[in-house]
Amino acid sequence: MNPNRRDFIRTTGLLALAGMTGVEFLFAASGENVIRGSQKGLSLSFLPYELQLQHVFTLANSSRKTTPDVLTRLEFDGVTGYGEASMPPYLGESVVTATRFLSSLDLNQFNDPFQMDDILQYVDSVMPGNTAAKAAVDIALHDLVGKLLEQPWYKIWGFDPADTPNTSFTIGIDTPDIVRQKVAEATPYKILKVKLGQSTDRQMIETIRSVTDKPLCVDVNQGWTDRVMALETIYWLKENGVVFVEQPMPKTAIDDMAWLTQNSPLPTIADESLQRLPDVLKAHGVYHGINIKLMKCTGMREAHQMLMLARSLDMKVMIGCMTETSCAVSAAAQLAPKADWADLDGNLLISNDPFSGMRIVDGKVTLADKPGIGLEVKKKVF
Ligand code: MG
Repeated sequence: MNPNRRDFIRTTGLLALAGMTGVEFLFAASGENVIRGSQKGLSLSFLPYELQLQHVFTLANSSRKTTPDVLTRLEFDGVTGYGEASMPPYLGESVVTATRFLSSLDLNQFNDPFQMDDILQYVDSVMPGNTAAKAAVDIALHDLVGKLLEQPWYKIWGFDPADTPNTSFTIGIDTPDIVRQKVAEATPYKILKVKLGQSTDRQMIETIRSVTDKPLCVDVNQGWTDRVMALETIYWLKENGVVFVEQPMPKTAIDDMAWLTQNSPLPTIADESLQRLPDVLKAHGVYHGINIKLMKCTGMREAHQMLMLARSLDMKVMIGCMTETSCAVSAAAQLAPKADWADLDGNLLISNDPFSGMRIVDGKVTLADKPGIGLEVKKKVF
């Protein structure tokens, strides 16, 4: 970074910090700002920010046009890291719970952002649950530390950005006409993720196959309850160019799922069955792989640990997301070079993304060569 710009950021950032933490400034006669007194710790601020969806999102019993979200900023030494908690209603967190959680934190006690292990252990220990709110702090801390090191996280982790997979684009359960229309809209994407789990499953696949021969993956969202029927369907899906099956059976059906994985001709991937690091060991032998999402697992630090554990167990890895801004999606994308598959289309579904970062170029996850999580602020919202 240009030294003058860095000094400018440092000075203006500290002025902002001063308002929040009481750092003392001495305004010298020359007009230059001179900092007096000791540097204070990390300063966290946050803003509820409702995500506007481009299309109405329809589930079995409800539909919605927005997703609740909280943006975070973590400041230190004039440098700002950005984070985010995305909270689809069915996951149990809300703006109220996230605000309560973030308000309860005292990050000012930490005056070295590089001690990430201690800081994030503290954040995790304050209350159970609140995984999205914890991710909002974790992502902001990673962004901050990456900026202080002036390196992106994929480099700090030693990953080759050329190794990123294509992202899938999701086609929801719908009428054949709408499904064909959605497939046409998905032209830039090289792999489609098809939602299954209802009586129309074969019709969905046949409709898509009538208009494209792209590889497909399917997400059953726990929708199949009979393991023999599930296995027959998976054989049929394989004949129709499907490459893996996500969460075919209910998360409680562990024995059936282990049997299905043992006999399945396609990889099975755990999503609803898995949240955090210890769940990877539980999924081993029950599924071929895991779907890691930052909002489920408290952020990048634990996601990286899950990725490495899954790799050491010879399991497949997928990096997924919720409906999110480019902030959380770009954070997740830092892990993508070591993933078999990516499902990072969350930022493409909203119309009020204040950031740009990771991009999809010719269907492929493409990382920005910028420090931290590689964000640029497009529209300053706080
Ligand atoms: Mg899923």
